[in-house]
Amino acid sequence: MGTFADFHRQSIEAPEAFWAEQAKGIHWHRPFDQVLQYDQPPFARWFVGGQTNICYNAVDRHVDARGDQAALIFVSTETDTETVYTFKQLHQEVQRMAAVLRAQGVGKGDRVLIYMPMIPEAAFAMLACVRIGAIHSVVFGGFASVSLASRIDDCEPKAIVSADAGSRAGKVVPYKHLLDEAIKLSSNKPNSVIMVDRGLAAWPRTEGRDVDYASACAALTDAQVPCEWVDATHPSYILYTSGTTGKPKGVQRDTGGYAVALNASIQHIYMGQPGETYFSTSDIGWVVGHSYIIYAPLLAGMATIMYEGVPIRPDPAIWWSLVEKYKVSVMFSAPTAVRVLKKYDSSFIKKHDLSSLKALFLAGEPLDEPTANWIADELGRPIIDNYWQTETGWPILSICNGVEPKAAKFGSPGLPVYGYNVKLVDDATGEELHEPNRKGVLAIEGPLPPGCMQTVWRNDERFLSSYWRSVPNRLIYSTSDWAVRDEDGYYFILGRTDDVINVAGHRLGTREIEESISSHAAVAEVAVVGVADQLKGQVAMAFAVLKDASLAETADGARVLEGQIMKVVDEQLGAVARPARVRFVTLLPKTRSGKLLRRAIQAVCEGRDPGDLTTIDDPSALRQIQDLMGA
Ligand code: AMP
Repeated sequence: MGTFADFHRQSIEAPEAFWAEQAKGIHWHRPFDQVLQYDQPPFARWFVGGQTNICYNAVDRHVDARGDQAALIFVSTETDTETVYTFKQLHQEVQRMAAVLRAQGVGKGDRVLIYMPMIPEAAFAMLACVRIGAIHSVVFGGFASVSLASRIDDCEPKAIVSADAGSRAGKVVPYKHLLDEAIKLSSNKPNSVIMVDRGLAAWPRTEGRDVDYASACAALTDAQVPCEWVDATHPSYILYTSGTTGKPKGVQRDTGGYAVALNASIQHIYMGQPGETYFSTSDIGWVVGHSYIIYAPLLAGMATIMYEGVPIRPDPAIWWSLVEKYKVSVMFSAPTAVRVLKKYDSSFIKKHDLSSLKALFLAGEPLDEPTANWIADELGRPIIDNYWQTETGWPILSICNGVEPKAAKFGSPGLPVYGYNVKLVDDATGEELHEPNRKGVLAIEGPLPPGCMQTVWRNDERFLSSYWRSVPNRLIYSTSDWAVRDEDGYYFILGRTDDVINVAGHRLGTREIEESISSHAAVAEVAVVGVADQLKGQVAMAFAVLKDASLAETADGARVLEGQIMKVVDEQLGAVARPARVRFVTLLPKTRSGKLLRRAIQAVCEGRDPGDLTTIDDPSALRQIQDLMGA
């Protein structure tokens, strides 16, 4: 084992040699001619000329060596189901799904939208798409019709794979009516909707469009669908993420770079070995689910646990019982989930044999000290905070114990990961901040390493303007996060520079929520801000100005309206985006030029000093919010 500093230096100084070495970890149908093409910065093309297939690498290539070993372990505490698919069985299931997609006319380059709960068929669908060169776009099952419609419009799927319902904490959540409504709202109509019927909820059928998955595969028990060899730069998927406008961005990922980066990350960051079990508690609708429930563990020949349910049902021991039962060696979760568990007696952890577990990785939101200390004490295992984004697909900051064991520092996700040329820059001048302990924007010098986004789907201009042109005077990728670096090079994340908020590890755009609330007939104007919350990290708070203020004059009137507005958000975006409260004011705090003073609203809600208010148009607007929040 060399030092991490050397490893990182090589990755930055000689990226081609470094990544050529990492690329040996996957199978290439055709070897690449060029490791990196970077003649049109910031558009990086990795492994140019090479051909491969992610499904082949994640499934087929393991069939000979470990065909009878577990690949996908499905556990649902919602439906009381536990099914283990070996690599051989997964290979078969994926081919059946691929055959069904093919029968619907889906081929290379076509988009397939996947709107599904955490069931094995969702994994089959993702793998089947990349198998045939189709580009999937998974939409989180907690999103509702308007969120879905904007994604359908943007990626224009030829087919949609969905299910009758999900289930959360014992409550069935039907999907099909939301999907039908979304298709009605969107200008693009898919040719077919492939429905996995779990028998949880009845669903209306549109003849000629809707296909029942079970019937379609009945004749396909032994379907054989070969892998389509695609260029390394062929898009593997699009995953939408919230930005500062109301319209989510389609993060486009490649094939070869992603496979290489994920496969390498299992070794260098997560310390997983083939034949071991990986358990990520995320959802396939988020990037962690893509990378660390589905692709990375399977690419590395590990079994992966796909868990449908909440962490405390049937009791708070459920996750730890799975760690013991399946000898999980790597676990990945989010601080919010740990904060939920922390409310319970820790004996539920202690009663299980967790000796297989090497480390617990946490990401997605800031990890606070009480949470980190509690879980570290209870588990007696390293807790590794890692920082990244949908855009990068794998960690930007972490400790890379697979390269060189290093101590973590509390509150820091660690050091720049190999491949990432991380800089801290001044947001006003773009200058690099070299001295320690100065606050700046966390930025990455191009080229972004393999696995990161190629562009915004069909929108290179948005890729440039959202990410590469926000720091003045230089072409550099901005994460839109504030950070500081200490004397030892460890980074500390200080929050977003933009209007994106992070609720329970879920990234949400305040503009999207504002647009949804504004669609309520009574609302004239609204501001949504993220406010610190002990359990979820942040929650959304809405302050609305009504067209007719008298509607909210009484407590009852305000309560009814608040309920109605929350329902609108539930139906349009999904409960995940529902604000914790909707409060009514007669005026929003703005500058004299009409700019909403979000930071001041947020500060007041969090009981902090709102800062410089010399530009405020009418100070009484902020006082109204102060009064409402009891400040
Ligand atoms: P997402 O794209 O949904 O994964 O959200 C990415 C954003 O979540 C980042 O830009 C950060 O604001 C935040 N984030 C992710 N991981 C961490 C972490 N370990 N510590 C602090 N913030 C994080």
